Amino acid sequence: MSRVHLQRSEAVVLRRHDYGEADRILTLFTRERGKLHAIAKGVRRIASRKSGHLELFTRCRLLLARGRNLEVVTQAETVDAYGPLREDLVRTAYAYHLAELTDRLTADENPSPGVFDLLTAMLGALTVAEEPSLVARYFEVRLLGLAGYRPQLFHCALCQQLLAEEGNAFSPSGGGALCPDCAGRPGDALHLDGTAFRVLRFLQTRDWSDAGALRLSPATRGALERLTGAYIEQILERDLSSMGFLRSLRSAAASLGLAAAPDTAPADRPVAAEPA
Ligand SMILES: [Zn+2]
Repeated sequence: MSRVHLQRSEAVVLRRHDYGEADRILTLFTRERGKLHAIAKGVRRIASRKSGHLELFTRCRLLLARGRNLEVVTQAETVDAYGPLREDLVRTAYAYHLAELTDRLTADENPSPGVFDLLTAMLGALTVAEEPSLVARYFEVRLLGLAGYRPQLFHCALCQQLLAEEGNAFSPSGGGALCPDCAGRPGDALHLDGTAFRVLRFLQTRDWSDAGALRLSPATRGALERLTGAYIEQILERDLSSMGFLRSLRSAAASLGLAAAPDTAPADRPVAAEPA
């Protein structure tokens, strides 16, 4: 008989789906071991003591047992439920976005306490932020760095010359900002507004205590969302609209018990612009 190996972990629930009659399979991001998959048995039963602690985005303390294929959650205790995220559709949608990006940009069992700390800090910031989109952009820029996809913003991504603050372009496939000489080389170079460029650099290099104090115009918010969206889309090699805000909004509506938007958006419908 094999000895059961138990391990304590702190985790955020990134994703979950129902399994069997009363179980759930969870995608967790743990501080100790990075992303992993676990089963919570019987968690959908009303009497389950674990259920309230394993809601989406909840930060929890777990006792995990090594199973044959999946970890098994044997105990769960909430550290922070980020309650306000569940009371506001827009905040819920942004929380989905953070969880989904963490899931998509990280590999299983690759420990990254930095990603865990960023995720928990930004879920906390989302509960109170006046401008949730700024939390999302900061999270994206920093997660890209931690996951090994840091966009180049200080030297031209192609010729490596030091960049001025104005007159540059941005190429998702090139890996970041391009000097005026290189702007025409890749086919996907985007206009890089000077203000948006300065904000991106700020987000990449400053703490949230500084970055969170920025106040941006709707035009700059839109420009930033287009730039990071195009960059992430290029990395994931998939249409961001399939993972993006509309889908998050639908999931959020469903989780809050609101009437969800139609499940099939017309294919040519643009990704939702910045929420109000
Ligand atoms: Zn260049």
